[in-house]
Amino acid sequence: MPSPSLEATLNGMPQVELHGFRPEHDLALVSTWVGRPHVTRWWGEPDDALAELRTHDAETVALISLDGRPVGLLCWQKPTSLELSQAGLSDLPSDLIDVDIMIGEPDAQGRGAGPEALRLLFGRLRAQGVAFAGVATELANRRAMSAYAKVGLVPFRDFVEVGTNFRYFTKCLTDAESPVHRKDAEGVSMARGECNCGAVQFEIDADLTDVFVCHCSICRKSTGSNGIAVVVVPNDQLRWVKGQEHIATWKKPNCDWQTWFCRICGSPVPGANDSKRMFAPAGSIVAGGDALRVAHHIWVGSKAPWDEIGDEGKQQPEGFRG
Ligand SMILES: [Zn+2]
Ligand SMILES: [Zn+2]
Repeated sequence: MPSPSLEATLNGMPQVELHGFRPEHDLALVSTWVGRPHVTRWWGEPDDALAELRTHDAETVALISLDGRPVGLLCWQKPTSLELSQAGLSDLPSDLIDVDIMIGEPDAQGRGAGPEALRLLFGRLRAQGVAFAGVATELANRRAMSAYAKVGLVPFRDFVEVGTNFRYFTKCLTDAESPVHRKDAEGVSMARGECNCGAVQFEIDADLTDVFVCHCSICRKSTGSNGIAVVVVPNDQLRWVKGQEHIATWKKPNCDWQTWFCRICGSPVPGANDSKRMFAPAGSIVAGGDALRVAHHIWVGSKAPWDEIGDEGKQQPEGFRG
């Protein structure tokens, strides 16, 4: 019985492994990586990137090898509360571990080393009892965004730092490792959704039943109607089919409210409900929503005067109380 790594080699799959980082031995190699244009573009000035790695606890740095050759590195840390507040991310889970990844060898890009290295690190962190991991990427870094989607990282929020637009992604490590993708008899997913232009598409692996309608003044302005109707599902039940890179977000300043929309057609699209759950606009569900009924109305106390509620949904004067 071949070992898993040998089996991967025999199958022609690139073999990705993580190795301990020995600064005195490995920094020379890393210094060639940080000088490469495709790395400098995201990691900034080579000297600054190297200085930061020198001071990083070597226990929380790992070299990534692809078919036995070192091609990049991972480092991870608990973000400080100052860093989080400067990025407007103070509401991230307090025990979250923030991860940085670098694929330094140009010919190793696009071969799946990044997603596989992240998968290995997440497994290691999970075994250490870490519940949440997160990564940031510049909005312009499409390659990173598609790699993150592959390992189940979901968008948390967009933020601006020193004039550059970033997106923060999180992953709950205590979720099932690989959610079983349930399909019906015709091989169709249980629910499917899309924006008006079709650039953003997603699938939900769940029997959708409950719609939540928020009647608050912020949701009213956001949609131009009586509020917004959404379904809420655990993170691992929503899967992006395509178009995550077309999603824009806007957070209302000084307010626990954020909107997610297609930057091409403006339709509301799924976003983070909290660190464990996603919401999807009920109106974006195009298949698999036949059993949906309004279960709850929230912020009914501030609904528009012309908004008459005529269904059986439970009415709550303010936020959701179960
Ligand atoms: Zn669209
Ligand atoms: Zn609302």
